[in-house]
Amino acid sequence: MTKDAPLVSLHPNVKAFIGEKRRMLIDGKWVDAKSGKSFEVLDPATGQVIANVPAAEKPDVDVAVAAAKRAFESGPWSRMTPAERGKIVWKIGELIMEHQEELAQIESLDNGKPVTVARAADVVLAAELFQYMAGWCTKLDGRSLTLSVPYTPGSEYHAFTRREPVGVVAQIIPWNFPLLMAAWKLGPVLASGCTVVLKLAEETPLSGLKLAELIQKAGVPDGVVNVITGFGETCGAPLAAHPDVSKVAFTGSTEVGKLIVKAAANDLKKVTLELGGKSPNIILDDADLEQAIPGAASAIFFNHGQCCCAGSRLFIQDKIYDKVVEGVAEYARKLKVGPGLDPSTQMGPLVSQVQLDRVCGYLESGKEQGATFAAGGKRLGEQGYFVEPTVIVDAHENMKVYQEEIFGPVVAAVRFKELDDELVRKANDTIYGLAAGIYTSNITRAHRLATKLRAGTVWVNCYNIFDAALPFGGYKQSGWGREMGVEVFNNYLETKSVCVGLGQG
Ligand code: ADP
Repeated sequence: MTKDAPLVSLHPNVKAFIGEKRRMLIDGKWVDAKSGKSFEVLDPATGQVIANVPAAEKPDVDVAVAAAKRAFESGPWSRMTPAERGKIVWKIGELIMEHQEELAQIESLDNGKPVTVARAADVVLAAELFQYMAGWCTKLDGRSLTLSVPYTPGSEYHAFTRREPVGVVAQIIPWNFPLLMAAWKLGPVLASGCTVVLKLAEETPLSGLKLAELIQKAGVPDGVVNVITGFGETCGAPLAAHPDVSKVAFTGSTEVGKLIVKAAANDLKKVTLELGGKSPNIILDDADLEQAIPGAASAIFFNHGQCCCAGSRLFIQDKIYDKVVEGVAEYARKLKVGPGLDPSTQMGPLVSQVQLDRVCGYLESGKEQGATFAAGGKRLGEQGYFVEPTVIVDAHENMKVYQEEIFGPVVAAVRFKELDDELVRKANDTIYGLAAGIYTSNITRAHRLATKLRAGTVWVNCYNIFDAALPFGGYKQSGWGREMGVEVFNNYLETKSVCVGLGQG
């Protein structure tokens, strides 16, 4: 691990941002929690406090939802043309890029990810997401329909559909990509004309609050986007259950996803969920290993393995097994682990003590269940939440490290003999179905296998490629619905059929 390396010097606006007491955005105003309660935000590289944010609870949720309801029903937002909305949403993307360095530094301080990655990936993707969604504002139209039902002889119907915003949306996001998850959620809400209360993750609320400032600056009217900070049970739960919320969009653990469904069931709110994964990444013996080895390594080590789609089960064909395992292990050993603000860092700390304990718990369970480690296997250093990039070899189906989502930089390698139904069965043998990877130079094998994998995204000869145009979401217990692409609008628009009897004439 890098020790005492020179860190990027903090942008003056970042110093000011974390130096001041932070407030949350409700109805266009920056407010404290009604209770006056707040909580500390920690730097995962040091465990030190970097900011304080309000601890919103039910009374704050009530005010935020009321603001979103008023903005949906009667504010200027509801009267704006799609083109006017589109310009504002585009502007948010521009402002994100104008504040790229600040957002990248805030993200790195708060989440632990390398500032170089936040700058090049998280911030850019967030800006692009808003600009992609801006284009949809003017294109969310219904269809004109020709009916066959008889009315009276000689008469006709004029029938068409309208796509209308679903109403007030509640959104709850996790800590692994704080800014990008906020963008994935808010972009389509704004494009569709809904209004929203977004609850940020308690571990990483800072970039979302900065984004809220930019959203306000872009000209989004008061009450349309309300961004609140608080804990899951005391803030997220009342938000998910609020009677004036028409739809809940959640990203997080499968366990909490099930609680969200229960909370929303009372009044049958619409729900979309983007949940966990234990994604298979399959390397066939004809793969280009120059591409497959770093591909398999970054599939698991990107974002320190804290990706719901991480390629955490690595299936390697017998003939190339040793070479790939050694290649991925060497990659792991060479990864430069250090504080996110060190520009040479390739992997930062995990997000929190809870997460560090969880990942270390899995490493221990692997040892107890007889796993062998080709690289890593323990905590790194004593300060901050660092863990070694880890490669477990010859993992068995009964090991917890093979079956359960670890959400850390730990990959379980499995050997297979043939590309046959047994391989497909094993790859699909998980409660999840978020993503999968295939490395091969044989196009026929690639397509046949891609069709058989039960996953919302299949990457072939690449991994972790995200684009605002590419829908993302899960089969099975990885979720309901899709983020991004045109598919995301199924979550935020109702379809109204209008049927006009024209009579005779
Ligand atoms: P993780 O395990 O990755 O921290 P969680 O699913 O626990 O993910 O958290 C994701 C988001 O869900 C966070 O914003 C968290 O505050 C929120 N959350 C946690 N518990 C609940 C709950 N019971 N109801 C609503 N939101 C919750």
